[in-house]
Amino acid sequence: TKDIGRVEPDFVRSFRFESKLLPLTWVVVRIDGSHFHSWPLQFADVMLWFSDVHEFEKPNDEQALKLMNSCAVAVLEEFEDIHFAYGVSDEYSFVLKRESELYKSHSSKIISAIASLFTSTYVIRWGDFFPHKELKYPPSFDGRAVCYPTYKILLDYLAWRQVDCHINNQYNTCFWMLVKSGKTKTQSQDYLKGTQTREKNELLSSQFGIEYNTLPLIFRMGSSVFRSKEAVAVKNGVVVSGKKPKPKPKREGEVVVDHCNIIERGFWEEHPHILS
Ligand code: ATP
Ligand code: ATP
Ligand code: MG
Ligand code: MG
Ligand code: MG
Ligand code: MG
Repeated sequence: TKDIGRVEPDFVRSFRFESKLLPLTWVVVRIDGSHFHSWPLQFADVMLWFSDVHEFEKPNDEQALKLMNSCAVAVLEEFEDIHFAYGVSDEYSFVLKRESELYKSHSSKIISAIASLFTSTYVIRWGDFFPHKELKYPPSFDGRAVCYPTYKILLDYLAWRQVDCHINNQYNTCFWMLVKSGKTKTQSQDYLKGTQTREKNELLSSQFGIEYNTLPLIFRMGSSVFRSKEAVAVKNGVVVSGKKPKPKPKREGEVVVDHCNIIERGFWEEHPHILS
């Protein structure tokens, strides 16, 4: 302890590792649930995963997705610099405005602040979405940041995540229908090997009477979160967002969740206020 007085603060600080995000780029922070499925977790002597332990419905647990959305809304409400978020499965991408200087652009601070607020909100609101299900252990989310230099590449990134949502959802819908109809997981996997989009849609339609395009938008499109520009987004007299008309008009600036096609440039042209 007699050495404590000799510690030079500047010397200790000199080991600090700083990774500053590039200025004037589009920063995307993507968080992803740890071990939600593909990584085993030792739990009560059996190998289980977060979504199994909590008996998520397969292929899509709508309540789990809505809980994720609610956490993303909380993040946008907290951080004004985040202008858009896109979520699917156990992941969420948060887009910071180009001019953001949040935490002086220290990536580790930005990532950890977003991931920890998201995670604590997930835990606190669990009961609102699963009133009859106990949260059995604390979930965690990892996070990473990427700087996209141009608007076009940013939109390519978001389109990539939505394409992923589509491909996974279509595969998982087929896979779980086959499993639920009595095939083993290996048989179902083999059955789907090499099939194209059209064949998968035909399988769903002919064997299970499911028209893929009528499945809920939240499953097919994922969820987009942003601040609303005006009351309700209406296109040709039809409410674009969701199946039913929204119960109450949105206030300007209110954070809303929608399940829109963000691959098509039309969405961005119609909502120039989100990322410009
Ligand atoms: P890692 O820790 O590397 O992220 P992981 O096990 O979380 O591993 P992911 O690739 O992130 O793997 O996949 C998440 C998995 O969690 C999905 O494949 C799916 O099985 C499950 N999952 C997440 N959300 C839902 C949901 N709403 N309904 C059903 N299953 C879900
Ligand atoms: P930042 O967001 O930049 O971290 P901050 O307000 O959290 O800002 P810190 O330098 O982290 O500032 O200081 C944390 C402050 O929280 C302490 O200075 C103290 O006032 C208070 N604090 C933290 N833990 C305790 C505690 N156990 N008991 C009393 N006060 C505490
Ligand atoms: Mg991961
Ligand atoms: Mg995960
Ligand atoms: Mg994931
Ligand atoms: Mg502090």
